[in-house]
Amino acid sequence: MKYNVDNKGFYGDFGGSYIPEMLFSNIDELRKNYLNIVNKDSFEKEFNYYLNKYVGRPTPLYYANRLSEKYRAKIYLKREDLCHTGAHKINNTIGQILLAKALKKKKIIAETGAGQHGVATATVCALMGMDCVIYMGEVDIQRQKPNVERMRILGADVRPALSGSKTLKDATNEAMRHWINNPDDTHYIIGSVVGPHPYPDMVARFQSVISKELIYQLNKVENRNYPDFIIACVGGGSNAAGIFYHYLENSKVNLIGVEAAGLGVSTNKSAATTKLGKKGVLHGSKTLLMQDENGQVTEPYSISAGLDYPGIGPLHAHLFNSKRCEYLSVEDDEAMNAGIELSRLEGIIPAIETAHAFSVFDKLNIKGKIVVINLSGRGDKDLETYIKWGKY
Ligand SMILES: *Cc1c(COP(=O)(O)O)cnc(C)c1O
Repeated sequence: MKYNVDNKGFYGDFGGSYIPEMLFSNIDELRKNYLNIVNKDSFEKEFNYYLNKYVGRPTPLYYANRLSEKYRAKIYLKREDLCHTGAHKINNTIGQILLAKALKKKKIIAETGAGQHGVATATVCALMGMDCVIYMGEVDIQRQKPNVERMRILGADVRPALSGSKTLKDATNEAMRHWINNPDDTHYIIGSVVGPHPYPDMVARFQSVISKELIYQLNKVENRNYPDFIIACVGGGSNAAGIFYHYLENSKVNLIGVEAAGLGVSTNKSAATTKLGKKGVLHGSKTLLMQDENGQVTEPYSISAGLDYPGIGPLHAHLFNSKRCEYLSVEDDEAMNAGIELSRLEGIIPAIETAHAFSVFDKLNIKGKIVVINLSGRGDKDLETYIKWGKY
């Protein structure tokens, strides 16, 4: 399996586990146990139970009739927006909280940028009766008030990160510090396919339920279990990893990842990692990373808070390097227009992250082809951003 993680935690040149010594025992405990736990029948049964009864899976594979007509392709939408809490993120938090329980952990910590992963984490902590501490940059707390209050309603303790730029990477540092000081009873839930091994592989496995469902759903309607194209937006890359997962080795499927170019790759307001990034280490893994000439991580920008990340997960760095997946980057306005188009043609207002994936039809040769787009989340959380943008 040349696109999956090797036993040292690498995807080709990328991945690994670059962590301070103080975190070694926590990560090592996870690394040693995660496969045994998630491969147990009893784990799989419980995971599937919650995905089915609580999250609402399987999510529909919806044939987008009017969108298909417009672009002269057969376009299907994988409706992750219909998951409980409004996006794919909960697939992973359900998996990780069950893993935490199996490891006899009592407390959960997480970091969040826009608040979506924080909400998905606070939700499963309430579900399982676990203590929940969420670190969030002070600046993000001001910008994302509704999600902060959602987490508090769910019983989470939202703690501000006051250092650095007071955004996501500072929240991540605080969460790591917390974990170092509470190694025995605490599990750290990371929200995307990033971080030290085994996180990228663990999160990809939990999200792979998306492509697992796609195989039989597509088979039913197309008599063929694979599409010609799969398109997904990429922040850290978890929704893309989930819908690519079972097709990585099938070279008939064109995999397309869509990054946020922000105001443009030639401005310094962008988050297009494959265009602008270089090899580096962030949050415990070697990957592609936006950095200045001194190797300092630069502040990313995108109109969508969930794509506003200076790197991509090591799996994606490898898929990019090996050319297995093509990465496109689209600017704020292109994504916003695509979000409006989906709203008008199909009656679905997408999350702005997701809207990026809908803006690349004209850049691809999809006429007459079967195309599946991962509709990673719904736009309710983004109403204010749509309103502020205003061109509709
Ligand atoms: C968080 C988020 C993303 C970006 O995260 P990935 O790990 O790249 O999937 C994309 N879409 C939605 C709706 C999100 O909430």
